[in-house]
Amino acid sequence: MSKRVFNFNPGPAVLPVPALERARDEFMDFSGSGMSVLESSHRSKEYDAVHHEAMALVKELLGLPADYHVLFLQGGASLQFAMVPMNLLGAGMSADYVITGSWSKLALKEAKILGAPKVAASSEQDSFTYIPTEFTFDPDAAYVHITSNNTIGGTQYHGFPNTGSVPIVADMSSDIMWRQFDVKPFGLIYAGAQKNMGPAGVTLVIIRDDVLQKCRPGLPTMLSYGTHVTKESLHNTCPVFSIYMVRNVLAWVKDQGGLPAMEKHNRRKGDMLYAALDSDPDFFRAPVRKDSRSYMNVVFRLPTEDLEAAFITEAKKLGMVGLKGHRSVGGIRASLYNALPHEAVQSLVDFMQDFRKRS
Ligand SMILES: *Cc1c(COP(=O)(O)O)cnc(C)c1O
Repeated sequence: MSKRVFNFNPGPAVLPVPALERARDEFMDFSGSGMSVLESSHRSKEYDAVHHEAMALVKELLGLPADYHVLFLQGGASLQFAMVPMNLLGAGMSADYVITGSWSKLALKEAKILGAPKVAASSEQDSFTYIPTEFTFDPDAAYVHITSNNTIGGTQYHGFPNTGSVPIVADMSSDIMWRQFDVKPFGLIYAGAQKNMGPAGVTLVIIRDDVLQKCRPGLPTMLSYGTHVTKESLHNTCPVFSIYMVRNVLAWVKDQGGLPAMEKHNRRKGDMLYAALDSDPDFFRAPVRKDSRSYMNVVFRLPTEDLEAAFITEAKKLGMVGLKGHRSVGGIRASLYNALPHEAVQSLVDFMQDFRKRS
C-alpha cells in the first residue's frame, strides 16, 4: 500500500484502515453476489444483511434501550436542522435551543422558519469559547436542542444539561461513537456519518418511540420520521455504499473493544495535544475554556497568521494534512476522530516543538 498521510481533516475525515481494506477486498464480489455493493439492489438479500447489521451495531455500541429506532437518512445533518422542527414543533409549541457555534445557529435558523424557538443559553458573546452552564429552559418546550461537539469552535459538552422531562435533541455529528453516554434523556440524536462514523452520504438518526409518537402528521412522506421508521430506512433507494462503509467502520469499532476503548484512545490523543499547547501558552494559544475543550476538534492559534500559514504548509510537507482552521475562524484545527492513530498526534506534537524552537 502506498504511504497514507496523517489526516486531520474535520470531515469527510480519516477512516480506519481495516474498514477501507475490507471494502477493497470485497469490492469486486460483494458477499458472493458476483458484483460490487455499488451495483447491488438495495432490496437484495446481500445488501439487506449489511443494512440490518449496521443498525444493530449502532444499537449495540451505544447500548440503546429497546424503545429507540435507528434510521439512515440522506440530506446530511443540515436536513435534520429542518426535519426536527418540522416533525416535533407542532402549532403553538416552542422549543429551546442552546447556541454554542455556527452549527447550532444554523439549526436555530431552520427552526425559526417553522415555528417560534427560544434561545435557552448562548456563548456567542464570548466567541463560542465554552459550553454554557446556565440555562433558561421552558418546562413546556417540545424539546431542547444542543450541539454536543462544536466542530468549528472546538468545544464539547462533558456532561449534558438536566432538562427534566423535556427530551434533548442533539446534533452529535462530530462526536457520535467516541464514548458511551446515558442516552435516556435524549429523544432524538442525529449525526452526519462523515465525521466519526463513515463516509459522506448518510446521516444517522436515533429517535425514541414516545417522541416518534408525537411527531406531526400530514408531512410530505420523505420528510416524516414515521415513514423511515416503518420502512426501516428502505422507503426509497438508500445510499447503499455509505451504509456499507458505516457497517465496516462500526465493526472495526466493536473489534477494538467498543466505545470504552474508543474513549481511552481519544482521551490519550487529546490529553497529549492539549498538554503540548499548555506547555507553551504564549506561543500556542488555545482559545477554548479548559472545561469545554473538545477531544474531537482541537483548535489553537499561533502568534501571527503568517506563522500559522507556515505551520500548515510545513506540516503538510511532513505528511500531516487537514490542519487549517475553518474558513470562518482561521487558526489551526486538528481533528482527532476515532480512526486517527496515536502516531499522528505524536508526529504533530513533535513537529509543534520543533516549529516552536525555530520560530
Ligand atoms: C459537519 C456538521 C454539520 C453539517 O453536516 P452536513 O452533513 O454537511 O449537513 C452539522 N453539525 C455539525 C456539528 C457538524 O460537524
